[in-house]
Amino acid sequence: MASIYFDLYSCCVPVLGFQRATICDIQRNSYVVLPRSIVNIILENKQFKRSIDSLVEIYGQTLLPWIERLHAEGYGHYFNNVSTYDALPDIDFNLYEYNSVSNAIIDFDEDSSHDLQVIADDLSLLYCEAVELRYYFAPPFERLIKDLSYFNNSTVRTIEILVGNNPNLRVRNYKKLLKTEKRLFRLTVHSSQKRKNWILEDKKVLCLDPMIIKDSSHCGIVDPRYFSININTIKDSINVNSCLYKKISVDAKGNIKNCPSSSKIFGNIKNESILQVMDNPSLKEMWLINKSLINVCKDCEFRLICIDCRVNIQNPADIYSKPKSCNYDPYQAEYTL
Ligand code: SF4
Repeated sequence: MASIYFDLYSCCVPVLGFQRATICDIQRNSYVVLPRSIVNIILENKQFKRSIDSLVEIYGQTLLPWIERLHAEGYGHYFNNVSTYDALPDIDFNLYEYNSVSNAIIDFDEDSSHDLQVIADDLSLLYCEAVELRYYFAPPFERLIKDLSYFNNSTVRTIEILVGNNPNLRVRNYKKLLKTEKRLFRLTVHSSQKRKNWILEDKKVLCLDPMIIKDSSHCGIVDPRYFSININTIKDSINVNSCLYKKISVDAKGNIKNCPSSSKIFGNIKNESILQVMDNPSLKEMWLINKSLINVCKDCEFRLICIDCRVNIQNPADIYSKPKSCNYDPYQAEYTL
């Protein structure tokens, strides 16, 4: 009888943790958690290319249900030609970039006076691709349209908006905005009466969220709900800091920072431009701290899908300590209270 083999699909990325492992499917944006030993066997077998029968002979019958589960859930495939192991190419996780800044967060409260057109123009000169505009109040609809228009002739390709609940606006107003503004891909209304999400045309997202957000302090929360399973997050987590790399922020007071929650200020937009601040080497000092350099995280099976936070960390004296809000212990494979 012909031998049957098993391997993971190329788009399913195995990540070994101390106790457990994850397999992250970057095509379906899903992940599965398994014992580390099982994933290790599958990984080693890429080299040895043993059939399932041979693997069971060596490691025992307990391996079989795991392989069957991975197959049933679409993370791997059976085949009967051993050369298939080499036929599927590995994914290239290197970063290939042309820009100096890839993403920016611009915060506003009711007293903010920064000139968004000036900021948008500078971001374009740096080839910035993604922008998040966060309003800790409920601006009029016309203000949102105007602010979005500043990016019309920019390099920015995607815009995300977080905005306070305006009682004069209806869901249909937000849906219309998402439809007409091509760059706008996600709009979240905080301080809303209810919680509801819509996935619209072109996978654009509208969210109503009852959470009251008055400032940038809600940032840096580590929770499985916020795991990001896609090739960009995985590439960043392998190579650089998944939150701060090539990020620039302007807080509600106009201070230029790595992240609006950070206390480190590199200048104020009223006196200095983003272009001038880019020459400050301290701005980039955390850009290359990837997950494999961070204590505890480096042994965690979630490290390639968990967005890092370098601002709220467990030991402020140690820039390599893990994010403060994380209560997961990869050594025990459990969450602590
Ligand atoms: S230990 Fe680190 S990588 Fe793991 S969940 Fe916590 S913050 Fe994320």
